[in-house]
Amino acid sequence: MSAYREGDRTVVLIPARMSEAEEQRWVTVMLDKLAAQESKRVLGDTELSERAGRLSELYFAGRARPASVRWVTNQNTRWGSCTPAEGSIRLSHRLQGMPEYVVDYVLVHELAHLLVPGHGADFWRLLEAYPRTERARGYLEGVVAADRLPHLPAARGE
Ligand SMILES: [Zn+2]
Repeated sequence: MSAYREGDRTVVLIPARMSEAEEQRWVTVMLDKLAAQESKRVLGDTELSERAGRLSELYFAGRARPASVRWVTNQNTRWGSCTPAEGSIRLSHRLQGMPEYVVDYVLVHELAHLLVPGHGADFWRLLEAYPRTERARGYLEGVVAADRLPHLPAARGE
């Protein structure tokens, strides 16, 4: 049995002879396993730099060229930051385990700051190149809002 992502689809391979009830149960188990694996997979700083390079090619014709891209653990109020003079980009470790498109959005955002400082109309126009900007911003706003909620009792079995 195995499960993997193929673009936007998730493929779960299970033996044909299973009953429908068994099939349902295993699909749930495999999807949970896949989600757990994904949230554990963390890009290293080298992979992060490579990813930033690819995103710059894809959305800014390679014009944003960071000198360094790395994770930092001392950044709890911001998801990412950028020092254009040094060409350095830092991402909060709190993004680790979040969906790829969210991490990509923060990278694209900081890359854009290498080209346009501040958050004026020019900046957001640049960000329109990344198709999941709105969705990623919504996700991050949700995370911030959830952090502010009173903590709920832990779910059963956790
Ligand atoms: Zn910004």
